[in-house]
Amino acid sequence: MEFEDTPQEAAFRAEARAWIAANAPAEVLAAVEATGVGTLALGVDSVPAQKAWQRTKYEAGWACLHWPRAYGGRGATPVERLIWLQEEDAYARLSSVFHNGQGMCGPTLIAHAAEDQKRELLPKIASGEEIWCQLFSEPGAGSDLAGVRTRAVRDGDGWIVRGQKLWTSGAQVAQWGLLLARTDGSVPKHQGLTMFFLDMASPGVEVRPVRQMNDQYEFNEVFLSDVRVPDRQRLGPVGGGWGVALTTLMNERLSIGLEMPTGLDDLMAFCRAVDLGDGPAIDDPSVRERLADWAVQEAGLRFSTLRAVSGAARGQQPGAGSSMIKLVAGAMMQEIAAFAVEIGGPAGLLTDPAVAPHLGRFAALLLRAPGTRIEGGTDEILRNIIAERVLGLPPEPRSDKTVPFDEIQRG
Ligand SMILES: Cc1cc2nc3c(=O)[nH]c(=O)nc-3n(C[C@H](O)[C@H](O)[C@H](O)COP(=O)(O)OP(=O)(O)OC[C@H]3O[C@@H](n4cnc5c(N)ncnc54)[C@H](O)[C@@H]3O)c2cc1C
Repeated sequence: MEFEDTPQEAAFRAEARAWIAANAPAEVLAAVEATGVGTLALGVDSVPAQKAWQRTKYEAGWACLHWPRAYGGRGATPVERLIWLQEEDAYARLSSVFHNGQGMCGPTLIAHAAEDQKRELLPKIASGEEIWCQLFSEPGAGSDLAGVRTRAVRDGDGWIVRGQKLWTSGAQVAQWGLLLARTDGSVPKHQGLTMFFLDMASPGVEVRPVRQMNDQYEFNEVFLSDVRVPDRQRLGPVGGGWGVALTTLMNERLSIGLEMPTGLDDLMAFCRAVDLGDGPAIDDPSVRERLADWAVQEAGLRFSTLRAVSGAARGQQPGAGSSMIKLVAGAMMQEIAAFAVEIGGPAGLLTDPAVAPHLGRFAALLLRAPGTRIEGGTDEILRNIIAERVLGLPPEPRSDKTVPFDEIQRG
C-alpha cells in the first residue's frame, strides 16, 4: 500500500484539520491532555462535554464517518476514518462514552436490525443523544462468551430475561444495551443464544457501578430480574445470537486496534523533560536502548494498523491481525507506564496530573493497562487466536462444544 496520502486523502485531511481547529472545544484540551488513558478527569462530570463535542461533530457531518449517511454517518472510507482519528487526536478521548455504541453496537444494528429501527436508532448514536452498552460478559462467561447463563424465555410477543451481566462499561449512563442471552439450553452452547437490544430503563434492570483500582467507575454489574423485552428488539434469528455476537466482536477488535495508544510519545517527552542528575533521561544510554526498542515496536504497530485498514478498504473483515495489534500495544502500554514510574522514583507514585503533569498520566496509565489487556479479549485468548488462525497450530481441545448446554458439568 501507499504510505503517503493520495491527493484526495490529503484534501480530506486538510478539511478535517481546519474544521477541528475551528470547532473543537479548546477550553477542555489541557484537561483532556493531562489525564491518562482510561480516565477522563475534566474536574466535572465528563458526559455533558462528551455529548456536546459529539453533537457538534454530528451536525457538521463528522460523526461515525464510516457509517452510511442515511444512518447519521458520512459514508467515508476506512482510510478516511483513520485520517480523521489521527487529526482528532486528543479530542478523540472526549468520545470514550460512545465507544461501545459507535464502535460495536451501531455496526451490529447496521448488519442485523430492521430498516426502520436502523433509521430511528443509529442517528441518535451518531449524534451522542443516546449511549449504548454491551451486555455480553457474565461472572462465568468472559473468554468463554458462549457460556452465558442469562436466560430469555418466550412470553407472548416478547421475552422475559433473568440473569446477571458483569464488566458492562458505561451501563450507568446508557439508554440501550446489546444483550446476549440463552434461549435454549437443550442444544450445544453456541446454538442456544439469541441477541436482543434492551431499554436500560426497563423495570427489573439494576445497574451497580464497580470501583476500579484507578478510582474510576467505568464498568458495572447489571442485574436483570424478569425484564420484559419485546420480540421486536431481537436481532437476528432465535438461536442465531452467536453469529450476531461475532459481528460485534469483529468490530470491537477493529475499533480497539485503530485507537490503541501506547504512551510512547508521552514517554519521549517525559525523558526529554526529566533530569536524572547527570542530564536529561533521553541522553542516558540505557534509557535510549529501551526507547529504541519501543520505537521499533511502534513502527510495527503503525504498519500493522495500515495493513488492517487497507484490508478493510478492500472489504475484508478484521481478522487475527487486529488481535496482534491489541496484544502488542497493550503490553507495550503497561511496560512504558511502569518504566516512566520507575524513572520518576518516589514521585512516580503521584497520580494527580495537576501536581505531577507527566508522572500523573503514567501512573494513571499503569493502573489502567491491566484492564486494557483483558477487555476485548485477554492476552492469552489473543495468543490462542494468533496460534490457530495465523500460525495454523492445532486448536485447543474444546470438550463442551458439542454437548447440550444444560448437560455441561460445572463447578
Ligand atoms: C476495562 C474492561 C471493560 C470491559 N467492558 C466490557 C463491556 O462493556 N461489556 C462486556 O460484555 N464485557 C466487558 N468486559 C469484560 C471482558 O470482555 C472480559 O473480562 C474478558 O473477556 C475476560 O473474561 P473474564 O473476565 O471472565 O476472565 P476469564 O475468561 O475467566 O479468564 C480468566 C483468566 O483465564 C485465562 N483464560 C481463559 N480461557 C483461557 C483459554 N482458553 N486459554 C488460555 N487462557 C485462558 C484468561 O486469559 C484470564 O487470564 C470488560 C473488561 C474490562 C477489563
